[in-house]
Amino acid sequence: MDFGLSPELAELERRIHDFVAREIVPLEDDPRQDAHGPSRELCLELQRRGKEAGLWSLHAPRQYGGLGLSHVERAIVFEAAGYSLLGPIALNCMPGEGDHHMLEMIATPEQKDRWLKPLLDGALKSTFAVTEPDNGAGADPTQVMTTARPDGEDFLVSGRKWLITGYREAAFHIVMAQTEDAAGARLGATMFVVDAGAPGLREIRRMDMLDDMFPGGHSEIELENVRVTRDRILGEIGRGFRYAQVRLCPARLTHCMRWLGAARRCHDIAVKYARWRRAFGKPIGEHEGVSFMLADNQMDLHHCRLAVRHACWLLDQGEEAREESSMCKVYCSEKLAQVVDRSLQVLGGIGSSNDTAIARIYRNIRAFRLYDGPSEVHRYALGRAILKG
Ligand SMILES: Cc1cc2nc3c(=O)[nH]c(=O)nc-3n(C[C@H](O)[C@H](O)[C@H](O)COP(=O)(O)OP(=O)(O)OC[C@H]3O[C@@H](n4cnc5c(N)ncnc54)[C@H](O)[C@@H]3O)c2cc1C
Repeated sequence: MDFGLSPELAELERRIHDFVAREIVPLEDDPRQDAHGPSRELCLELQRRGKEAGLWSLHAPRQYGGLGLSHVERAIVFEAAGYSLLGPIALNCMPGEGDHHMLEMIATPEQKDRWLKPLLDGALKSTFAVTEPDNGAGADPTQVMTTARPDGEDFLVSGRKWLITGYREAAFHIVMAQTEDAAGARLGATMFVVDAGAPGLREIRRMDMLDDMFPGGHSEIELENVRVTRDRILGEIGRGFRYAQVRLCPARLTHCMRWLGAARRCHDIAVKYARWRRAFGKPIGEHEGVSFMLADNQMDLHHCRLAVRHACWLLDQGEEAREESSMCKVYCSEKLAQVVDRSLQVLGGIGSSNDTAIARIYRNIRAFRLYDGPSEVHRYALGRAILKG
């Protein structure tokens, strides 16, 4: 394994870092954002800046205008983008980047033209709708209760979903539903593309959450006999969970990459403060209690970065890397949250204010231990695999 950066990649990393520092960080205090994330207007401005800087959708395949980055290359680019919570929006690598990857892998050429291309251009947004209320899909996604029943050549999709990120901003939704044949026999879960505004689809409520960085926030929605034509099925009927893995393995890693950038930002702020702030006759960084926190931060950042790049390298070799991406997700979501927490501690009271980026990152990183599989579920799966041998 060689994680050395080529001169081109090192230059790209530097450009993104400069762009985020110069053009994006100043927008962090922009009033066009609320508890449900940055507004559409602010997102469009971020998109415009990303495009003007030539940094939009770098991860896209070359035929769609991107650089066709490998997974290891994405690790470099997405970490640099993640230095600001708004950076990934300006580069089109959050939200929806998991959907980009999945559509690239499983959509037909017609479906790619219809949905993937405009997602990569920034003309459309999507959601990925699996999780449900009422004891449906959650930590165990196979509990999905939303149904798709045949009606002539079409399917009628009915059920409820919640925690659906970006629902209000999306032009279409990728909905996981248990599929039945005409006799009512179960065929397994399938992914259906449902347009925003489709008859029978409605938002029940927008949810108030701890996080505030995802455009559009999160919604609870209902589908009541939403008609879906066959050309809106992604992949084969009954293989929805298999395809979800195609999405989730790399998506888990890209979350790790972006959060690595955000945690590094917090650490940088903490280092600066520790050098400047004095207490008991010397800079606080010279007190062992503080310098040890900084040292722990540096070790955690280093090992998270290695874990991400190693899992990415396996994906680049064509391996599935399910266990590695799972271990990496648990490790990074827990260790990076500790980095953010220690950084806040180093800043004392002002760390818990919105005077620096740390408090917002602290609020937002918490959910990383829940989405794309809670830590306990990854441990449960790993534990079972260990015992099986
Ligand atoms: C910010 C955010 C954004 C999200 N965006 C989306 C989205 O866009 N689309 C979507 O479909 N979903 C989304 N989700 C939902 C997310 O995927 C689920 O929260 C996650 O899968 C866990 O499901 P659950 O919340 O139903 O937890 P539950 O299934 O209720 O589980 C609760 C807890 O039980 C424990 N647990 C469960 N199983 C085990 C086990 N085997 N061993 C040990 N402990 C266990 C875990 O501690 C777990 O946290 C989002 C969630 C958040 C917080």
